[in-house]
Amino acid sequence: MPPETEMIELPGDPPLSVRLKRSRQARRVSLRVSRLDGTITLTVPARASVRNAIAFLNERRDWLDRAVAETETPLAVVSGVAIPVEGRLLRVEPAAIRAARIEGEHLLVPRQRPAAGALAFLRLQARDRLAERVAVHSAALGRPTGKLTLRDTRSRWGSCTVTGDLMFSWRLIMAPPPILDYVAAHEVAHLVEMNHSAAFWAQVQRLFPGYQEARRWLKSDGARLHRFRFDAAPGTSGHSAS
Ligand SMILES: [Zn+2]
Repeated sequence: MPPETEMIELPGDPPLSVRLKRSRQARRVSLRVSRLDGTITLTVPARASVRNAIAFLNERRDWLDRAVAETETPLAVVSGVAIPVEGRLLRVEPAAIRAARIEGEHLLVPRQRPAAGALAFLRLQARDRLAERVAVHSAALGRPTGKLTLRDTRSRWGSCTVTGDLMFSWRLIMAPPPILDYVAAHEVAHLVEMNHSAAFWAQVQRLFPGYQEARRWLKSDGARLHRFRFDAAPGTSGHSAS
């Protein structure tokens, strides 16, 4: 995050995180909710006070809540839609190819099956990254892991059985890399502590220092990863987010 950016946390249901951007060029305050990823940005003149910024946001809370809710409505993955891959927004672009791949700012997908192609790509990437991070953390702990399974679970990002089998949501590949890494560390730490005791969190901290920030991200932004629908049935509306 650039140094001129601060975060303002607004309590409420749901709580909102607002990026406060100070700009030398700004003569007045402007508020924007990204239709792509729900990021809220408040741009203020360089010397504006945080207190005034918070007052401004509180006055517009209803509008903000509505705008954020809109970014969480289901979005079918079709041509032109931007989806996050490892935290980067890539625009889905059908092409004459057999398997999806990243090219610059685009996710090229097979023309005949754009959503299924994108999904297959994300699952492959997720398996790759998760296997890699799990291996690192399990080596650090000196505990071997069992099978790695990917699912699309809404209730949890990962789980670990007593026999060391690990399950993860493949949607973690859409989050910024440290988020996936934290969940990998969290589940591997369960190999030592099958609970959420202080001893468990100490293991997580050992494997992934500063895990609290990733946990907060999952709480505030994680649900947004579930809005992308890959079962694009005919007639499903996919308004292209631009
Ligand atoms: Zn846990």
